Amino acid sequence: MADDYDAKRDFDRTPEPRGDTSSSDDDPCFVIQKHDASSLHYDLRLEIDGTLKSWAVPKGPSTDPSDKRLAIPTEDHPLDYADFEGTIPEDQYGGGTVLVWDRGSFDNITEKDGELQPLDEAWKNGHLLVELHGEKISGGYALQRAGSGDDANWLLIKMDDDAADARRNPVSTEPDSVLSGRSIDEIADDENTDDESGDDG
Ligand code: MN
Repeated sequence: MADDYDAKRDFDRTPEPRGDTSSSDDDPCFVIQKHDASSLHYDLRLEIDGTLKSWAVPKGPSTDPSDKRLAIPTEDHPLDYADFEGTIPEDQYGGGTVLVWDRGSFDNITEKDGELQPLDEAWKNGHLLVELHGEKISGGYALQRAGSGDDANWLLIKMDDDAADARRNPVSTEPDSVLSGRSIDEIADDENTDDESGDDG
């Protein structure tokens, strides 16, 4: 819940958004943020029910349907977080540099008994199918909870459709931000330069 997000953060210290935007009528959005924290991972976030449902994917998304990528559920993030790129201080929760690795809209394609199942229901049931429209990642993905209980891990699996491609590896070949074109190192350096207010000669 959003309360968990607030409780973990000191907004006087972290540049992350407090987040008070509510959802719009537009298609729901997704973001995948590359997060160079104590261990590098990719945070997948899907707009569901006015918040960003979130998973940490250690290896990032695959475009190969035969890969099953571990997706560890994390706390809901506010919708504003989808634009966040920057460096969280090391002594703060999630300390490290965040880069918007991919983003776009998505369609819910989860069906139950031949009918489209609402996203929030699909999420609660631990099985959702989405079609992502990103710059690097597109097509169908299954998110499947691999156990019972709120702490159970999930799996992120590419569906076998036109966008599936076992030869692509965008996590390594397309590492930079779709928002600013910067690399993780450039974002980290930019922030350090700001802090030293020009004293970087
Ligand atoms: Mn993270």
